[in-house]
Amino acid sequence: MNKEKQFCDYCLDYRNGKYEEKIIKEIIDGIEIEYLEKYYICDTCGNKFYGDLYDYNVSTANEKLREKTGIITVKEIEKIMKKYSIGKKPLSLVLGLGEVTIIRYLDGQNPTKDNSDLLKRVLYNPFLFEMFLLANKDKISSVAYKKSMGKTKQEELTDSNSKLYNVSLYILQKEKEVDTLSLQKLLYFCSGFSKVFPNVKDLILDCSESWKYGPVYREIYEAFSYYGYDKIDFDELVKDRDINLSLEEKKYIDAIIEAFGFYSGSILREMTHMTDPWIESRKGLDDDAFSNRIIDNGSIEKYFKKVCEEYKISNYDDIKKYSDDMFKKAKAKLM
Ligand SMILES: [Zn+2]
Repeated sequence: MNKEKQFCDYCLDYRNGKYEEKIIKEIIDGIEIEYLEKYYICDTCGNKFYGDLYDYNVSTANEKLREKTGIITVKEIEKIMKKYSIGKKPLSLVLGLGEVTIIRYLDGQNPTKDNSDLLKRVLYNPFLFEMFLLANKDKISSVAYKKSMGKTKQEELTDSNSKLYNVSLYILQKEKEVDTLSLQKLLYFCSGFSKVFPNVKDLILDCSESWKYGPVYREIYEAFSYYGYDKIDFDELVKDRDINLSLEEKKYIDAIIEAFGFYSGSILREMTHMTDPWIESRKGLDDDAFSNRIIDNGSIEKYFKKVCEEYKISNYDDIKKYSDDMFKKAKAKLM
């Protein structure tokens, strides 16, 4: 028995009814669909009626029909919004649709075939979505743009299964308090020492750039910059995502985190400023000068090989000898 009476279409009055549900087949526009229908059986006349369940049945049937005809479903549109961190109105505007078009689709209106196809392509292709985002960035707020672009870049990195991105995610999983500045420096040292140990030699092949705040991997910056100086929200990022690294690689990264993860972003920045590859790639530039020069991987390899000889580093745990010493030097410089 229901708490509230529902309107029975046969009695034409509010009645108590018994709730029931049943999988039914229905033909809409010549297409057969199957769904779980929910309804009441009237206590007074014994007929089946829908009352407050009417909307549920209509939208469920409609969603099934969209699935069957290949028209984008409400669930898939919601997926797009989540995937690219974008609201209903901004999504409409970015795709060049009317401001309320997506809202209407979410309310159950059927998209045109063209718009449906567009939404489907965007759902599975972050690079395509980025093009729309760039083309229409002026139509949405800069906050909405930055957030959505960051999430889109993350999706691109996921799609390409970038090693650098997987290493970043692993660091974020281990070090929950990491901000974008520290993450970049941890990646730099990860790349550096990996060139010395044969087991992890190909861990990071991407090149960093010599920005004034130290080495920066541009693609990682673009994916995370909207967090600003805040710590990166790991749970939002790594939920339902596998991190694609071998056990050996994880063991190595653990040692890097152990050696460097404890220090603040500004200490880490100071440390990187004292390394040859960074100094060499900024030759002739003022400390404050903008630069996107590529830090040569060859010079990184050379420097970290030299470091390993100097500090007698022969296994992952030995890396701490170097970080301890660099910390002392960085602290002295900052004081
Ligand atoms: Zn009735």
